[in-house]
Amino acid sequence: MNLHEFQAKKILRQFGIPVPEFGVASSVEEAKQVAASLHLKEAVLKIQVHAGGRGKAGGVKFAKTVEEIPGIARALIGMKMVNEQTGLAGVVARQVLISRPVDIEKEFYLSALIDRNQATPVLIASAEGGMEIEELARTSPEKIVTIPFSFEGKLRSYQLLRLAKCMGWKGELAKKGAQFAQALAKCFIETDASLLEINPCVLTKGGDLVALDAKLAIDDNALYRHPELSDCYDPTQVSSQEAMAKEADLAYIAMQGDIGCGVKGAGLAMATMDIIQYFGGAPANFLDVGGGATKEKVAEGFRIVLSDQKVRAVLINIFGGIMNCATIAEGVIHAAKEQKIAVPIIVRLEGTNVEEGKRLFQGSHLKIQTADDLAQAAQLAVQAAKRG
Ligand code: ADP
Ligand code: MG
Repeated sequence: MNLHEFQAKKILRQFGIPVPEFGVASSVEEAKQVAASLHLKEAVLKIQVHAGGRGKAGGVKFAKTVEEIPGIARALIGMKMVNEQTGLAGVVARQVLISRPVDIEKEFYLSALIDRNQATPVLIASAEGGMEIEELARTSPEKIVTIPFSFEGKLRSYQLLRLAKCMGWKGELAKKGAQFAQALAKCFIETDASLLEINPCVLTKGGDLVALDAKLAIDDNALYRHPELSDCYDPTQVSSQEAMAKEADLAYIAMQGDIGCGVKGAGLAMATMDIIQYFGGAPANFLDVGGGATKEKVAEGFRIVLSDQKVRAVLINIFGGIMNCATIAEGVIHAAKEQKIAVPIIVRLEGTNVEEGKRLFQGSHLKIQTADDLAQAAQLAVQAAKRG
């Protein structure tokens, strides 16, 4: 689950990471109240969306006087941002963060994430902050250091020395940097984050280190340990399919292609994506119906897959272990009839009660093709999507 910058900054503060004073507004009236309560003479206003690159996209504005704040807030609240990170549909900002401007001496990059290859949390740091880290990794990878740290969220002295060296921090600044990084590592572990990125972390003209921006993503599988974060979920920042799937407690992942996929189990989902690619197609999404789903839940999942406008063919690939193939067939047939679907559906069923499942599909009078194995099913789906 991604958090907004203002939500992340509240959490950073609890861990002792300095952030510039800020407030949040979802209307012009609230923006005026924030400006008054913080006694702002000037301000930085930033749209709150689950995507970076807001500065370049016009979503970060400076108000040089307090009188400029309402006008800028009016322009930014409701603004739709479209860039590589949002996809073509873009995301709409419902709120703005209003912050005291900081006199910037230098911008740094600092983040914590899980390195899956090394199976350890790592700190990623660079003295070149502010710009996109992906770009920096392409052009000057030597300017980025990766420092593995413990699952207790503690950095050791030698790790802090490495960090200070990379950042060019000396004396008092090295001490502040060490505190900042320690707090970041602790926050990352204790919130069960998958990413905590501060870009930029800035050195102010006054000699302080502050987090000017913050991106925090929490591992969905750990959310049950954080009831205090349940309010942070914002369905307006994900696709309507993802929001519907979350509501129905189904696992749904959106992608860029045109073949909708209904599967059972994450491993089979991966194999299905791979084989579609292998035969020259591209998945639009995948929905994992899970083990003990009812026919109603299967139908709901299928509705979600079909509501994605990109979908030109649907591949259903089920290996019924716990799941009964007849339940899948009933759910799919129900949703397909109700939606009067026009796209071709290809089904590959195996496992528990497969004969009954196939019989139901054949007797349904829907244009559903059944395949005997995964390779054939994927080829049929790719051909069907190409025909459109
Ligand atoms: P994004 O990464 O989405 O573009 P940031 O929050 O990083 O948004 O803001 C972009 C840039 O705007 C920062 O790199 C910084 O230069 C400037 N900026 C952001 N907040 C402040 C602030 N409170 N005071 C001064 N400059 C700021
Ligand atoms: Mg940023």
